[in-house]
Amino acid sequence: MSDNNATGLRDFIDWVQQRNPHEPEFNQAVRELASDIYPMYTEHQGWRAAKVLERLSEADRIITFRVCWEDDHGEVQVNRGWRVQHCGAIGPYKGGVRFHRTVTVSVLKFLAFEQTFKNALTGLPIGGGKGGSDFDPSGRSEREIMRFCQAFMDELYRHIGENTDVPAGDINVGRREIGYLFGHYRRLVNTFSGALTGKDIEFGGSHVRMEATGYGLIYFLRCMLAQREQELDGLSIAISGAGNVALHAAQKATHLGAKVVTLSSSQGTLFSKQGIPCEAIDRAIEQSGSTTDVLKTIQSDCGGDWLKDEKPWGQRCDVALPCATQNEIDADDAQALADSHCQIVAEGANMPCTEDATRLFKENKILHAPGKASNAGGVALSGLEMAQNASFSRWDQEQLNDKLLEIMQDIHAQCIQHAGDEDSYKDYHRGANIAAFQRVANAVMAQGVG
Ligand code: NDP
Repeated sequence: MSDNNATGLRDFIDWVQQRNPHEPEFNQAVRELASDIYPMYTEHQGWRAAKVLERLSEADRIITFRVCWEDDHGEVQVNRGWRVQHCGAIGPYKGGVRFHRTVTVSVLKFLAFEQTFKNALTGLPIGGGKGGSDFDPSGRSEREIMRFCQAFMDELYRHIGENTDVPAGDINVGRREIGYLFGHYRRLVNTFSGALTGKDIEFGGSHVRMEATGYGLIYFLRCMLAQREQELDGLSIAISGAGNVALHAAQKATHLGAKVVTLSSSQGTLFSKQGIPCEAIDRAIEQSGSTTDVLKTIQSDCGGDWLKDEKPWGQRCDVALPCATQNEIDADDAQALADSHCQIVAEGANMPCTEDATRLFKENKILHAPGKASNAGGVALSGLEMAQNASFSRWDQEQLNDKLLEIMQDIHAQCIQHAGDEDSYKDYHRGANIAAFQRVANAVMAQGVG
């Protein structure tokens, strides 16, 4: 990067930091994208004059609201809810809802920012948004979860709609929570519409939606391997998390002949040197309860070691798939992966690697796919659910799986097109950021200042 560009980039990053103090995750996400696209951005007079990057570092709007509900003891609980509508330039806002005690406005702003560019990569007409609450569902009864979802929707319903903003699931928001959210929305507006995705198949949901993020991640990984004339069959894969994304990635990987050596929760890691069997993963997908309990059931059925409070990254593997949460791989974890000769890291979670970890992967020539590319399968399928709802139709499983595969292959091709080839190393971050930014920036420019 030229000296002028380096100074311009630093000024931009400082400007964002000053406008968003105490928001480390949001600053991190903006910094990562800006560092990759800045040389291209400065060469494009139109974008610069229209301040497209500056505009995209500010959400269209952020809605904050109180969520009051009664627990099973009749005690009133007060939580906070948010919806960040980041950019609607290429379609209705689209992105999940997360219920977790770690949810803050910074976390949701970073997720919504990432979502805008991820959605652009899918090629579908969907803008970027994200929402959630600091509500912690662990230990809550079924009735409490339902009451919380209804209280959350009591405010959210004003801001969403099939052509406005279409939420979906994320951490701790799965099929059950989407059911409660959708039911309450439908009763409030007295309309049956596709205003949420991830719905049950019986009321407007789509085949393959639940599997899409994890399966899409493995389809993307296969493209990365094919680029190096390698195959998935026989490789050892370390996966973190044991939720929707992790388990479906594990399921597809084992069905394709890979060996999944770890799954994890916030309490520890299940490690199996010979690989966690397909049937155990299939059963875990059907099991309800905490993810730690799900992993301990696998251990008691099939063996393996429970590594309390440990992350998966100390185990030998060819491929690492972080599928739990943001910044779960730090520099020490990245070094451990490099030391064990891991060749590929593909993100199932959003921004699971710190900036130091990302740098270390690059220095060690470990291929590293960013979540905005490799986990885009979920939102792509959500886009296809919206299309089915709008046309009052239901597509079959095979058709949707083929479409998912096609979209992931196309995202991979976009990454490769812009990844560069320094010492024959493909920089997937750069490729994804450039391809995505071009689409969003052109749409923002074409629609004038506003
Ligand atoms: P789930 O709630 O189904 O599962 C989350 C998993 O991650 C659980 O095993 C959970 O363990 C673990 N986890 C969560 N927070 C932490 C933490 N702070 N430290 C360690 N482990 C943690 O969520 P999803 O599988 O849906 O989402 C996982 C990731 O994938 C998120 O980053 C999400 O944004 C991203 N993603 C999800 C998509 C989807 O379609 N669902 C689409 C694209 C990205 P425990 O229960 O013990 O906390």
